[in-house]
Amino acid sequence: MILTDVQKEIVQKIDEQISNWKNWKWQIKNAVKDIETFEKLTGIQFDPEERLKIQKTLDNFPLSITPYYLSLIDTDNYQNDPVYKQAFPDPKELENCRFDMNDPLAEDKDSPIDLITHRYPDRVLFHVSNVCAMYCRHCTRKRKVGDVDNIPCREKITKGFDYIKEHSEVRDVLLSGGDPLMLPDDYLDWILTELRNIEHVEVIRIGTRTPVVLPYRITDDLVNVLKKHHPIWINTHFNHPREITSSSKEALEKLADAGFPLGNQSVLLSEVNDCPRIMKKLVQMLVKNRVRPYYLYQCDLSEGLTHFRTPVGKGIEIMESLRGHTSGFAIPTYVVDAPGGGGKIPVMPNYLISWSTNKIILRNYEGVITTYKEPDNYNNINCDLNCNECDLELKTNPAEEIKAIGLEKLLADHDSTISLTPENNERIKRRDD
Ligand SMILES: *Cc1c(COP(=O)(O)O)cnc(C)c1O
Repeated sequence: MILTDVQKEIVQKIDEQISNWKNWKWQIKNAVKDIETFEKLTGIQFDPEERLKIQKTLDNFPLSITPYYLSLIDTDNYQNDPVYKQAFPDPKELENCRFDMNDPLAEDKDSPIDLITHRYPDRVLFHVSNVCAMYCRHCTRKRKVGDVDNIPCREKITKGFDYIKEHSEVRDVLLSGGDPLMLPDDYLDWILTELRNIEHVEVIRIGTRTPVVLPYRITDDLVNVLKKHHPIWINTHFNHPREITSSSKEALEKLADAGFPLGNQSVLLSEVNDCPRIMKKLVQMLVKNRVRPYYLYQCDLSEGLTHFRTPVGKGIEIMESLRGHTSGFAIPTYVVDAPGGGGKIPVMPNYLISWSTNKIILRNYEGVITTYKEPDNYNNINCDLNCNECDLELKTNPAEEIKAIGLEKLLADHDSTISLTPENNERIKRRDD
C-alpha cells in the first residue's frame, strides 16, 4: 500500500496500523470531530482566542473530517488551503447576512412526505441517508448537518417507495442525503432493488462525495452491489484539482469501469475555486478521469455560507473562460438554484448580441461577431397536438436587401457581410501567413 508521508504520520499519531488506512469504516471511526484531535494530527496550533471562536462555530455547525481528507491539507499554508477551507470551521460561519435563509431552496416545503423532495415533474430527490463522512462547510443543507446522524429506518424509506409508486410520472430518482454511499452495502442493495421493482422508475442517480472525501468506500463489493441495478448514474462533488489524488482516481476508475456514467457537481466557493484557471484545470482533470462536469452551482443563500459566496459575475467569468477554450464536454452548466424553490436556473455569458426578425448576431469566445441568418418564411405551425393532421409543407421566399452599417449591417439583408472581426485577431492572421 502506497501512503504519503503525511498519511503515515497521521495513522501513527492515531496509534493504529498503516494497513487500516484504506479501510473506509476505519476512516469513519477515526473521523476528526474536535479541535484538539485536529491539532494533534495536523500539527496546526490555534491561539486561545481563535480556538474559542472556532469552538463556538462548531457548537453551531459540527465538524467531521476523515483522516484521508485531512491528509490533503497543506499544513504549512492551511489558511489558504482549499481542503482546509472546505472542511474546517471558520468563525465567519456565524456571521449571517439578512438575506440568508434556513432552507433557501424550500426543500422542506416541496417535501410531500419525509425524505422526499418533489420539485420537478418527472423526478424526485430521495434523502435516504442523513450521514456524511466529511461535513462540507459549504453544505446547502447545513441546517441539518449532524443533528440526526442516523440512517432512516426501513419503515420511513418504505413510505418513500410508496410515494414513488403512487406517482407514475416519476421516472428518475435521485438518491441523496446526506451521502447514500454511507449506507451499508446490503441496505443500499435493498433500496435499489425496491426502486428497480417500480416499473416507471427508468433511471436511478446517486449523489455522493465519497470519491472525494472517502475514496476507499468505493470497494469491489460496493461496485458489485450497485452494478446489479443499472442504469445508475453517479454524481460526485470535486471542487478543486487538489482533491484529485491517486486514491480518488482509483475510486473513479472502478466506478467508470463498472459502467456508471460519472458526473461532477461543483460549488463555486470564494477563495477556494473562484478562479478561471483553477476551474479549467479541475474540469480537464475530471474528464481525464472519465467524469463529465455536470453542474457548477452558485453558492446558496443558506445560513453559515455568506463568506463562501461570490457574485454571479464570477461564475459567468469562469464560464467565459471555458467555452471555446477547452473541450465542450468538460464544461459544466452554471446554475443558480432559485431561492424559494424555483429549481436550477442556468446562467451564462451572452453570446446572442442582437437580432431582428430574420437574423441573429452572435459573438464567439474570441470576440468575433457573426450572423446567423434565420429561415426566411418560417411557418410556425399552430400545434394542436394532432400529429395525424399536421402538414409540414414549407415554402421559401427570399427577402429583398437594403443598405446599412455596423451591427445593423449584419442584420441587413442587402449586405452580404457575415461577420465582424476585431483587429489583430491571431487566428485570422494565421490564415494570411
Ligand atoms: C437538482 C435537483 C434535481 C435534479 O435536477 P436535474 O437538473 O435533473 O439534475 C431534482 N430535484 C431537486 C429538488 C433538485 O434540487
